[in-house]
Amino acid sequence: MKKILNKLFVPVLASRPVSALATRFFCQGIPVFMIHRMEVEGQPTPGITPDHLRRCLKYLVDNDYTLISLEDAILALRNKTTLPDKSAVFTMDDGFIDQAQTAAPVFTEFNCPLTFFVITDMINQTIWPWDAQASWIIDNTSTSIINLQLPDEKLKLRINDKKSRHSVKQTVRNIIKEIDAELIPDTLARLAQSADVALPRNPPPHYKAINWDMARELETAGIRFAPHSKTHRILSKLRPETAREEILGSWDNLKRELSYPLKVFCYPTGRLFDYGPREINILKDSGFIGATSTLPGHIYINNQTENQLYSLPRFSLPESMTYFIQYCTWIECAKRKYHTRRY
Ligand SMILES: [Zn+2]
Repeated sequence: MKKILNKLFVPVLASRPVSALATRFFCQGIPVFMIHRMEVEGQPTPGITPDHLRRCLKYLVDNDYTLISLEDAILALRNKTTLPDKSAVFTMDDGFIDQAQTAAPVFTEFNCPLTFFVITDMINQTIWPWDAQASWIIDNTSTSIINLQLPDEKLKLRINDKKSRHSVKQTVRNIIKEIDAELIPDTLARLAQSADVALPRNPPPHYKAINWDMARELETAGIRFAPHSKTHRILSKLRPETAREEILGSWDNLKRELSYPLKVFCYPTGRLFDYGPREINILKDSGFIGATSTLPGHIYINNQTENQLYSLPRFSLPESMTYFIQYCTWIECAKRKYHTRRY
């Protein structure tokens, strides 16, 4: 019912006359969208289709939005300069090959600035990330019960159908997010053993990363690259020197390989407790101009404290056009204001 109401009312509320009136009362924030996987036929990971991405960008162009780069948005925040009221920013995380092959051309088609946050050891072809490995194990097991021994507990995970496989995948990833990052390789090895699958050393095709030559080609086409750590481990779960190396090592790698890397960091998994003052201080002391999280919300020009520059919120690009329009207009601002008052 809520879905139907949203589908009916959001286009009306987002229409030009209503928006023009409503934005006088609800300031319009700027959405920064993040994209993870693109949908590739025959592959198990759901994602955004190029057609949907095209529809989103077309909506923005048709409705007079300005597509701005993340760098311009951060510089406007830092310098307290203005940006067009109707603006939107796009980012993409990780560095998988499908992102380069299917999403990047759509951004080029619309001349839309894109910041691509990459896991640098993945681009060096030396690792495939722990979260991709966990997903692959669950997608490829033919076992219906997985007994997983964790440091403090033993878990029994049941896979009966597509839905339970998806939910086990989420559960496993969430559990691994909470354990000490040093214990991840052992946990993955135990998971693979209980799931009775042999974890390949090199990533299977669906988890293949771009290489530096491809990155340079994309850079020439106008895409900006920025660091997303070396290995995608959650920084707050790492020892201080390792967290520092994850940040600075990935930046040094980008600087060595590319011509115009952007000094903005993207925290792996990016939730509230995945980073903290320790990481923010490293970024500030090393001259990073900002950092992005995965916390949902808009950015507001002239309404940022310095710390928020290192915790910039982003919306995951929704698969529904209705939610996309909601995030781009005053509707989401009004909804957030209402919820803040209520709770
Ligand atoms: Zn990521």
